[in-house]
Amino acid sequence: MSDCIFCKIVEKEIPSTIVFEDADVLAFMDIGPIVKGHALVIPKQHHDPVTETPDEVLAKLFLTAKKIAKAQMNAFGAQGVNIMQNNGRAAGQEVEHIHVHVIPRFEEDGHHWNWNPK
Ligand code: C5P
Repeated sequence: MSDCIFCKIVEKEIPSTIVFEDADVLAFMDIGPIVKGHALVIPKQHHDPVTETPDEVLAKLFLTAKKIAKAQMNAFGAQGVNIMQNNGRAAGQEVEHIHVHVIPRFEEDGHHWNWNPK
């Protein structure tokens, strides 16, 4: 999509710090990281939201998120990782091109939030 910022990142029209790329997906560092090492995984083809995204694309996104999580544990010594994905403004989605957040977590990272709402 011509007005999609993540499509522009895929096309390298907008710079990003790419950490993984293959024919289907791109992983890059989030421009506004919650924690050092916060990365995003996106499909190269434009899809959104999760309910309209083909199963094989979702599978590839999650498998790539797993790769990135392993790398964060090795590179940064992360002790945990949040893998999350927002859909719709009500859920906090800002960019309407499906993306998976991969956020390395540390016991003392200063974020006392927990994704479990209970
Ligand atoms: O899930 P949500 O849509 O809120 O997340 C969008 C993410 O994309 C934000 O974390 C934001 O920092 C990131 N972003 C980015 N590079 C851009 C624009 C947004 O990493 N050029």
